[in-house]
Formats: sequence, C-alpha cells, structure tokens
Amino acid sequence: MINFLNLQQINQQYNEELIEACTRVINSGWYIGGSELAKFEQNFASFCGTKYAVGVANGLDALVLVFRAWKELGKLKDNDEVLVPANTYIASILAITANNLKPILIEPDVNTYNLDSGLIESQINDKTKAILAVHLYGQLADMPSIKAIANKHNLLILEDSAQAHGAKLDGIKAGNWGDAAGFSFYPGKNLGALGDAGAITTNDAELANVLIALRNYGSHEKYKNIYAGVNSRLDEIQAAMLNVKLKYLDKEILHRRTIAQAYLENIKNPLIKLPLQNKNAALYDQHVWHLFVIECEKRDELQKYLTEQGIQTLIHYPIPPHKQQAYKELNHLSFPITEGIHNQVLSLPIGPTLTFTEVQKIIESINEFI
Ligand SMILES: *Cc1c(COP(=O)(O)O)cnc(C)c1O
Repeated sequence: MINFLNLQQINQQYNEELIEACTRVINSGWYIGGSELAKFEQNFASFCGTKYAVGVANGLDALVLVFRAWKELGKLKDNDEVLVPANTYIASILAITANNLKPILIEPDVNTYNLDSGLIESQINDKTKAILAVHLYGQLADMPSIKAIANKHNLLILEDSAQAHGAKLDGIKAGNWGDAAGFSFYPGKNLGALGDAGAITTNDAELANVLIALRNYGSHEKYKNIYAGVNSRLDEIQAAMLNVKLKYLDKEILHRRTIAQAYLENIKNPLIKLPLQNKNAALYDQHVWHLFVIECEKRDELQKYLTEQGIQTLIHYPIPPHKQQAYKELNHLSFPITEGIHNQVLSLPIGPTLTFTEVQKIIESINEFI
C-alpha cells in the first residue's frame, strides 16, 4: 500500500536528533515556556522573515487568538464582518465565529482554489473589518490584490498559513504578507510537530505582546492577569521537535516540488484536471505542495480504483463549511464553485518520503483509469 502520508517514516529520518532533543528537554527539568520555545520562535520568525513568532498550542488557536487580540486592542468588535474563502478548512471559519465575528464567505478561483480577489470588493460594507486569506494546499492567495483592497478599505489581513510554511509570492513568504498569520504544526502539515502545536507570525510589536499574554491566561507577569486569556502554550518538547524539523523543511519542500513536477508532466488523462492549469512557470517554485489536488468528475470511482491499486488518497474536503451541521445558519447559502470543488477534488500522495518508484506507479495507475 502506498500511504497518503507516512508520518512514521518522515519522523524516523530524524530519529537520532529528535531523541537527543527530547532527552535534553527531559534532563532540563523545564517543560513550559523555556529556551526551546524561545529558540523556535526566533528560528521560525527568521524563516518567515517576520519580526515576531508567538508559539501557541495549535493552528486553530493561532487564528482564534489573533482575532481575540485585535478585539482587545479595539480594532475589532462583536458582529464585525470577516471575508473568508468559502472552500477553506472549517478551522478558518471557527476562528471567526469563536470571536463573535461574522464570516462572509466568498467563492475561490477555480484554478488556484484561493480567494477570488475579483469578488472581494462587492462584499465590503461598513461592518467589514478584516480578510482571512487562506493559502490553501500550499499556494499563496493573490496577496498583492488582497493587500491593495485591504489598504483601500482599511481592513485587517490575517493569513491562514496552516498549509503554506515556506510558500512565497514576489519573494515574500507566507506569514509576512498580512498584519498577522496563523500557522499549524499538526503532525501532517509540511512542518509537523510530534503532537499539536501552532504559531502566530507578525511584524506588529503591540499585537505580539498581547498574544504573549493571551496564550498564558492573559498574563505577562505571574498571577497578574490583564486579559481573561486562555491556556494555549507550545510546550518545550514540541518546540524542541520543531527546532529539529525546521532545519529540514526546505529540503522536504524540494522533494514535494519534484514529485509535483513529475505529476504535472506525466499525468495525461483527459478525465483529470491538474492543479496550476492556467498558471505560468514563475509561480511553480513558490508553491510548497502541502497537498497535490486533482479534480475528476468521477472522483469517487477514481478514489475506489486507486485504493484497489494500493494507492491511498484523501479528499480535502468532502463537505464545505456552509453545508456543515455545525453551521445551520449558513446551510441555505449556495456557492456553486465551492460545492463543485468539494465534489471533484482528490489529493494524491506527495509526502517527503514518497519514492519515485511509488510516484511512477501512481502516475501509471491514473493514466490507465477510464
Ligand atoms: C490544519 C489547518 C488549521 C488548523 O490547525 P490545527 O493545528 O489542526 O488546529 C487551520 N487552517 C487550515 C487551512 C488548516 O489546514
């Protein structure tokens, strides 16, 4: 069986270093808020090109806490509207509604799966205060246009960068385009911890300072609480794992790109729509291929066929947020492009330990699908 993503293999590549880092933390006797976290925050900010990175417990909290901090700073208030792509992962929407803000869903571009920037301005009114730009599947959203619109209408930009560590556009990385960005280090992400972890990047010192308190009960100083904060800390063990794995992220991205290139050049089946269809080559080396997503009208048959061939695939995502039971108030909405995407997408294996023999087998199997 070719696994969609072999986490065991991925982490075993760095076994010795991970065990050594783990041992170092165990022997330090210091498990929360220590030198491993400080080092990771520095390393990750430097990787993204931002002034600050603030470690938190997971990617959802990263997004939730940025909106929360903006409320504490008086930049947002209850019922303000946040523009967000309709086809995103549910976490983006949860971060908005968890803060009593209102998600305004916008259709994505059918070719990039990211926010269609041409549709943003018609949704802006007096209540619109922010754009949550999601870099879905590992490719940056159309940030130059989104930034121009945000500047014109005085909107905040939060990047959901959970799938886009290291992705670039015009030489600027994910996490350094908006006013702030949320990252996830869930084990299956391009930079994955060995458990849950997340971070926020920003160049805004004031925001970073509020976030540092919010993640720790709203406190900068022990037993002195400025905000009614939460417990959302990135612990020392996970920070130590991430310090090891961050060193190899660029190498792993290159491996993903080589596989993506092989898929793009060799999958030749008229039933399959490949990603980046209408995109020029210049964009190619900016994508970090968290997911390699193809489309097929007979998606369910294709998935079943590939399973029979010993190839595991996944669907990102089968149900869009506005059709989820959790969001009954959105169920009446209709987003045909988003719904079409959810009916047709299929994610192929593209992990950092996938071999070229396996890639060859996947290409051949897809080309033989009728
Ligand atoms: C994974 C993911 C998140 C949430 O990250 P967690 O660490 O699982 O909380 C948010 N947004 C997107 C787009 C994601 O893919």
